[in-house]
Amino acid sequence: MAETMLPVADSAQVKAEGLRLLRQHQKPLAGVVILYVLAAMAGLAGPFLIGRLVDAVTDGTTAGFVAAVSLGLAGFVLVQTVLTRWAQVKGMVLGEKVFAQLREEFMEQVTSLPLSTVEKAGTGDLVSRTTNDVDSVSHTVRFGVPQVLVSVATIVLTAAAAVLASPLVALGLLVGVPLLVPVTRWYLKRATPGYLAERESYAVLNGAITETIEGARTVDALSLGPQRRRRIDAALRNCFEKEQYTLGLRTVLFPAAEFAFWLPVAAVLLWGGWLASQGAVTTGMVATVALYAMQLIDPVDRLIMWIDEIQVGASSLARIVGIRNVGTDRTATDAVPAGEDILVDKARYAYRPGHDVLHGIDLELVPGERLAMVGPSGAGKSTLGRLLAGIHGPTSGSVTVGGVPLVDRPLDELRGEVALVTQEHHVFVGTLADNVRLGKADATEAEIEQALADVGSLAWVRALPNGLATEVGSGSHTLTPAQAQELALARLVLADPHTLVLDEATSLIDPQAARDLEFSLSAVLTGRTVVAIAHRLHTAHDADRVAVVEAGRITELGTHDELVAQGGSYAALWHSWRQDA
Ligand code: ADP
Repeated sequence: MAETMLPVADSAQVKAEGLRLLRQHQKPLAGVVILYVLAAMAGLAGPFLIGRLVDAVTDGTTAGFVAAVSLGLAGFVLVQTVLTRWAQVKGMVLGEKVFAQLREEFMEQVTSLPLSTVEKAGTGDLVSRTTNDVDSVSHTVRFGVPQVLVSVATIVLTAAAAVLASPLVALGLLVGVPLLVPVTRWYLKRATPGYLAERESYAVLNGAITETIEGARTVDALSLGPQRRRRIDAALRNCFEKEQYTLGLRTVLFPAAEFAFWLPVAAVLLWGGWLASQGAVTTGMVATVALYAMQLIDPVDRLIMWIDEIQVGASSLARIVGIRNVGTDRTATDAVPAGEDILVDKARYAYRPGHDVLHGIDLELVPGERLAMVGPSGAGKSTLGRLLAGIHGPTSGSVTVGGVPLVDRPLDELRGEVALVTQEHHVFVGTLADNVRLGKADATEAEIEQALADVGSLAWVRALPNGLATEVGSGSHTLTPAQAQELALARLVLADPHTLVLDEATSLIDPQAARDLEFSLSAVLTGRTVVAIAHRLHTAHDADRVAVVEAGRITELGTHDELVAQGGSYAALWHSWRQDA
């Protein structure tokens, strides 16, 4: 399946986002900038004092004057060091704060992405954004932004000081500009798209590897190894090409910049030397400006390097901010359902436009009934189950609870009405109690224990080293698949939905475990409306009604006995199953 990439923000949106962050942290930012400016000013005293010293020595001076100037020099270096350190600490704290805010906002958005969007985009892109991109933005915010501020402040002040020392000699500083400006502009124009493409190629690689690992069994079973390897190789080659391109850009920028740095130093010495020989300036002035020229190299170099890194950061930020552009797949209204009846009316559904997999389904669930859905694989049972659980809205027609479309219900309320139970059970990193509490955020310990007792898990939970407080999930105590499934059921008890859609809930575990689970399951099912996507016909036999789904339609609907008597598909299925059993 071709992966639909999640949206990427455009540069206007990234700029607006940057400005918003700057504005929100205006005051501490101003404090950091002022400290850096003071530090840079202390740094300017050195070349100035040395210039005075050169002139004094040329004209003849006392050892006392030399000592005093040297002491002054040492003092300024000390002041500069203290101020720089202070500014750095404040800058780092600010960077951490901004980054934490950014990360929290991002996580909030990621966790509220519509499920259908995540499924369409694949996990690779999202994983890459939450790892590579967040790392890259963190680097930029923590180090890049402060460095750029320092560099700009230092460059402006140093240039101003050079002009003040001797405007005539300072003219020599300009010779680097005609080279530096066009090369930097050439580079920047290509760097953003280059780095963006590089990031995207990482996402594709991530996706290809994750898919292969997640589907390892299928890959093995169908001998897809060579094909997966070709796919990963292609993704790697693509990453390599993208990296080669950006590396190519840097190989032009860096040498040109290096040349442009040293040119002004040489120019100031030659031009200043000639001016001094003409008596237009003093040797001390030339020394001061030449030292300033050398002092400019480091901040200009850092600035260019960080503009480069900030390009990377900005392209990552564009991908992080882009998550916001994902439209919601539902708009909650405040309509309140009048009752618990679930009604499917002429519902059609297509994963891809024009390819309907459900062709007009009509179904009314009787509250409290147990309905089994049977039919060949690919008929649309799971899709209908997802519509009934409000995960997807129908492409046309409606699926309502108490007269209100399921997709119009706020998600947290919807989950207290209908829930989908699948065979995928995730144990989240945290305590066992946290895992159950996912069903109801404000559940008390007593409620959690009651829910665990209901599904028959309290005994083994109490036997764990720390009981409810036992850390579970990857890296901690490992739960068996059956235990994980019981936790999922305990969550449901807490969420307390009146309707459950059960999709192959017990098909993956061994028969003994399945029998144990049946008890837990029946505790959860009692008193609720249940739609069971049945894979074993005895589930259908025990249900109140059976719906046969074939090629996206409900072809038969009635009690087990009615359908057997009717002599249609269900009767045929039932008889052949009885014969096999
Ligand atoms: P069943 O549960 O009866 O086996 P499904 O509801 O899973 O059937 O599938 C119905 C049809 O929809 C199948 O043709 C299947 O290929 C297609 N389908 C299922 N999920 C997706 C998806 N995420 N994207 C595109 N097509 C899908």
